[in-house]
Amino acid sequence: MHKCNLTIDFANLLRGKVRISFQAKIDAPIAFMICEAFNFQNGPCLVEGLVGASFENDRISFEGRERRLAYDLNFPFTECLGSCSEHDLAYPYRNDEEFYLGGGALPTPYSSVGVPLAVSCQVQYLRLPDSFHITDTFSDSNANEEQLAQFFLFGEKRAHAFTPKIVHVDPEIRMHYTADRAAETMNMEDIVFNTTKSCLSFYIGELGLPVQTQIKFLHLLSPLDFKQKVPWPSFSTGHNVLNGIVVTAPDDCEMMKGIFGVPSYLDFIIQGIVHEIGHFWTSAGEAKTKSILFATDHCPHLDRKLLGESLNGYFTVPIQSLLFDLPRDTFWKTTIEARLRKALKTGRPECWINLFLVDSMLQKHHGIRLWDIYRGLIELGRKKGFNGFSDLSFLTEYIRSLKLGVNIEQIEKLLQITTPSDYFGPLTQALTYCRIDLAQSKDGPVFSKYNSDFFPL
Ligand SMILES: [Zn+2]
Repeated sequence: MHKCNLTIDFANLLRGKVRISFQAKIDAPIAFMICEAFNFQNGPCLVEGLVGASFENDRISFEGRERRLAYDLNFPFTECLGSCSEHDLAYPYRNDEEFYLGGGALPTPYSSVGVPLAVSCQVQYLRLPDSFHITDTFSDSNANEEQLAQFFLFGEKRAHAFTPKIVHVDPEIRMHYTADRAAETMNMEDIVFNTTKSCLSFYIGELGLPVQTQIKFLHLLSPLDFKQKVPWPSFSTGHNVLNGIVVTAPDDCEMMKGIFGVPSYLDFIIQGIVHEIGHFWTSAGEAKTKSILFATDHCPHLDRKLLGESLNGYFTVPIQSLLFDLPRDTFWKTTIEARLRKALKTGRPECWINLFLVDSMLQKHHGIRLWDIYRGLIELGRKKGFNGFSDLSFLTEYIRSLKLGVNIEQIEKLLQITTPSDYFGPLTQALTYCRIDLAQSKDGPVFSKYNSDFFPL
């Protein structure tokens, strides 16, 4: 763990820029730094005035022995315009009322073999105008290497700030949102937290009090035409960072339906929060230590997706269906049906079906649910600490260790189905067990009727 300092000087904030300085000890084994904002060379100037280092081939290299550098970060936009898909940069913006910067704006240190270097970085703010109040996701002004890479820092004028309320759910969640945006008109706090509360209590009831005790929720809103306002590729949805969730999507019904399959912006917000809280308390997809269970760098993509993103979705989406007053049987009928259709159309596996097959098999032959296994893994990860799973054997070895007489080869086979037509045999069995009738129709299998009390959770 290497100690370093990062200073953000706001002296020129009102002129549209902040000065960022980084310093580590001379003997710190930092070979180079990465700061995504430096990759944006065409279009509005994002960074300038680099001293102490030079930028070439995506990397910032120090000049001489000193491990210090400084540069200006500009705010070329006046509203939230999402993030760049190519370079993992949250587009910084500033207006009279607020400013925002996030992932890709700060430099992160790398070792000579090209892996992020573990650091403990003191973050200091200088000369912040009195009228601004800051919310960030650093831990008591300290950031590790992950927090330098993924974070949010939001400043707002006190006079216009929506007073953050502590919502009485465990853990504590604080919401901040922009002064003049949709949030207030939708009375977000009441709706979001009343409806997601049941999900939160479900997780706490099942998993015990989570490790993550405070999650800061930042709600920004992109304009409908955000893509046209950036000269670089842009997407605007939301994501979680260590200690926080940030939402940036536009209030665009068509986009919500097309990309997320939800009927409205509010549904998207609720789904997003439930999904991300699921990640915080259980398993991670691409990201790392903010979740209990996460993949190592060498984990194969499909294994990572299956045990991270898909498992989280498999257990959070059904809870959300309750929030939307959708009966669970209808939910599973339409979900499996839709996933199967999609798999057959794209020729690619749909991880949910693999999980559904394993879940049904465990319940049918051993009276144990996939959720019980998942919960066991999470408890184990909490108790013993966890360094990441490297492949599917993380799950299968745990099942083996329970000595339930489970046919592990069979489980592996189901998890590893990658050819959609191979779903038919085991899916027919699983659906029969679940008392779901499968009928054939011209556009693929559909369930003609469903009269089951079976729920994967
Ligand atoms: Zn996710």
